Amino acid sequence: MKYHEMNTKEVEEALNTDLSSGLSSADVKQRLKQYGHNELEEGEKQSAWLLFFSQFKDFMVLVLLAATLISGFLGEYIDAIAIIAIVIVNAFLGFFQEIKAEKSLQALKELSAPQVQVLRDGQWIKIASKEIVPGDILKFSSGDRIGADLRLIDVKSLEIEESALTGESLPVSKMTDELPAENLGIGDMANMAFMGTMVTRGNGMGVVVGTGMKTAMGQIADLLQSAESMTTPLQRRLEQLGKILIVTALFLTALVVIVGVIQGNDLYTMFLAGVSLAVAAIPEGLPAIVTVALSLGVQRMIKQNAIVRKLPAVETLGCASVICSDKTGTMTQNEMTVTHLWSSGQTWFVDGVGYEPRGDFYHKDERIDVHNEKALQQMLMFGMLCNHAELIQKKKEYIVDGDPTEGALLVAAIKAGYNRADLLNEFSIVQEFPFDSTRKMMSVIIKDPNGRQFVVTKGAPDILVGKSEAILWNGKKQLLSQDAKQTVQSAINELASKALRTIAIGFKEIPAQTMVLDEKEAEKSLTFIGLQGMIDPPRPEVKLAVKECKDAGIKTVMITGDHVITAKAIAKQLGILSNQSKVLDGPALSNMSLEELEDVVEDVSVFARVSPEHKLKIVKALQNRGHIVAMTGDGVNDAPAIKAADIGVAMGITGTDVAKESSALVLLDDNFATIKAAIKEGRNIYENIRKFIRYLLASNVGEILVMLFAMLLALPLPLVPIQILWVNLVTDGLPAMALGLDQPEGDVMKRKPRSPKEGVFARGLGWKIISRGFLIGLVTLLAFMFAYKDNPDHLEYAQTVAFATLVLAQLIHVFDCRSEKSILSRNPFGNKYLVWAVILSLLMVLVVIYYPPLQPIFHTVPILASDWWIITGLAAVPTFLLAGSFLLRKTK
Ligand code: ATP
Repeated sequence: MKYHEMNTKEVEEALNTDLSSGLSSADVKQRLKQYGHNELEEGEKQSAWLLFFSQFKDFMVLVLLAATLISGFLGEYIDAIAIIAIVIVNAFLGFFQEIKAEKSLQALKELSAPQVQVLRDGQWIKIASKEIVPGDILKFSSGDRIGADLRLIDVKSLEIEESALTGESLPVSKMTDELPAENLGIGDMANMAFMGTMVTRGNGMGVVVGTGMKTAMGQIADLLQSAESMTTPLQRRLEQLGKILIVTALFLTALVVIVGVIQGNDLYTMFLAGVSLAVAAIPEGLPAIVTVALSLGVQRMIKQNAIVRKLPAVETLGCASVICSDKTGTMTQNEMTVTHLWSSGQTWFVDGVGYEPRGDFYHKDERIDVHNEKALQQMLMFGMLCNHAELIQKKKEYIVDGDPTEGALLVAAIKAGYNRADLLNEFSIVQEFPFDSTRKMMSVIIKDPNGRQFVVTKGAPDILVGKSEAILWNGKKQLLSQDAKQTVQSAINELASKALRTIAIGFKEIPAQTMVLDEKEAEKSLTFIGLQGMIDPPRPEVKLAVKECKDAGIKTVMITGDHVITAKAIAKQLGILSNQSKVLDGPALSNMSLEELEDVVEDVSVFARVSPEHKLKIVKALQNRGHIVAMTGDGVNDAPAIKAADIGVAMGITGTDVAKESSALVLLDDNFATIKAAIKEGRNIYENIRKFIRYLLASNVGEILVMLFAMLLALPLPLVPIQILWVNLVTDGLPAMALGLDQPEGDVMKRKPRSPKEGVFARGLGWKIISRGFLIGLVTLLAFMFAYKDNPDHLEYAQTVAFATLVLAQLIHVFDCRSEKSILSRNPFGNKYLVWAVILSLLMVLVVIYYPPLQPIFHTVPILASDWWIITGLAAVPTFLLAGSFLLRKTK
């Protein structure tokens, strides 16, 4: 028999599991061994060897190797071996950089891997979906992706979208009854749920019948997810730029060679020098360093609770000009406590802290006994029955498993002495219509001991009032007149203006034994009972984060399903709503065309009582006004807006799988302040990339120019090939990496957001590269000329002086690269990685100059101490000349 033909009891037996307590840990261990992890096999990976050899595929490196081999045959063994050694070390560096980049991307993927809720040893726990084994009991709700193939054992309005398997994009409703033994297609197996499909509504439970490659998804191998593009706009721009740089470098080196030959140097020497120069000057390592810098930045973001799911987002973060954020849980603590209750014109207060179920009820200032207040009792009882949350005590702390709003209602009822188990003995729950953010209500149908049936609804008060035709006033059911509606409305406003989140409770009796078809039928003609108001304090760090964003030219917009007045009150507390900014509510938003919204959208700071569907419209309107939008969300319906936003942000704790999968950024702590931290890091990473692009390219310009100038002036070669390659390996590589780890400049969150269209050389970077590079080339040439003039027979001495000057000029310039302004505007030694990288580079240069066995290899001779003064003086010129000119401009 197949699983869909069995009833739940048979499934339980067939899989040797227990529907009420799940598998035991010992079972799980054994089954993991037997069935393996619940994973789909991925395609072949590139082997490490291939990756290593791909480092040599670069055309100029091949030419260099060929040229070196020729020089080897010509008897220049030392040169040939040294050059090959350097090329191999370089390849290793590239190889490790790429491995590191790939590893961190893999780690990212694992961090954002889905989790599932599973029943084991009688406890519901969360595990990574790859740990699921056959026989496990899973529970899931709207927004979850199903983790394995399941036979359903419990469903509540459950609908699942199975297009990944069936191509059918409409969700199908699910049930638990067994199906006849016909040959059914996947789309017809209404009592099964399949790995990779998505829950769009309701909730349910199921027994795992297949995992990994033994699932329906595993059988269609070609449907395995296609990898998304992981290159960022800057990387793509650099790739294009790389081609231009290669051509330019080749052209200039060709020029060096031709001029050199015309001036009488021999062709072979010039050829080897030219090829070495080309290898050094072509920034072939740039894309890999950019990837490493990006992924190191991503690691830093993880430490601050932000997981970047798509690498391009790192860059886009720095461009964000508007953050649209949910209120509940993101700006507030999502720890709700009922403090006010209202019914029949009376208000009661409850005291107590957080979820701790201890507190008293008061009317005016007097403590009361809840058992004397009928309406109060009903509200608390219904709030407890129409509720999924569980209160759990962990040591001295109480936490809520489930929706915090429901947690607050639960705790309020416990404070009044109610116990859910006792209530459920008295009233059985016959049917349930789960909460969703569009309806903003939830209902259950309960049966009392006499067999009478009632619909109990809780939800957003303004909406529930609209669904009510009567009101319970001092225990009597009355028509909900216009006047009564007014009274209720002022009570709602009164509670909301205290920044309280409000929930209304209503009910109606329905004939016994009837099944209600859908929530529309259930949630109409209700009798309104009253309101519960709960505090949800703002997160303390959000106010400052909003201010920092404002200083950084980023506007914060609150988008919430909550009441307008509640939203306004909290937005004011957080500094989001100013006197000039506007508030727009859901109904108003629905009535506006996109164009009308565009006209006002920049003035709106709070969108309240909105449905998730509205978010897409808001994103579009802001984007049409030229904004780069970050948008948060957690539910299934938030997914389109998250996808459409420039930076889709999903909640790590409360977010559904669907929301996370659509997002570029996941907040592990659901906290608004984390978005700000990520933006700051995003800006910093981009600035760091600019820093090392500047450093590397200026160095390369300097290297080419010194050679070109020397050839034009009919001088001998100022640097020999091995020196050029050494500079490329040592001086260029390490400090550039260290710049990638630099701390942000103090004003990084004081600048306006960067335009996403900005080119690589924008904001004066191109000029800095050319001017610094030119000066570096010039001072190196001058040093060479001085040394050569004094000692024309001793070319190696002059070359060593040029080598030292070039290295030193670059190593001084690297400190200048830390700032967009000048070396004097921040402590040059503030980056300890950079200081060490520079010390190490210097040492490595000193070693090849002063360590006798290396001197013949590097064609160096010891430099006199007195010459170092001149070398250092000259090397400092490019950086300090321009720092001086910066100061001069500033004082003017
Ligand atoms: P945000 O979008 O900022 O997270 P939110 O959490 O207030 O806002 P929703 O969850 O869509 O948005 O809630 C909208 C309204 O629905 C709430 O103001 C509340 O009145 C009502 N509500 C929230 N949770 C429940 C629930 N579990 N049952 C019934 N009604 C609820």
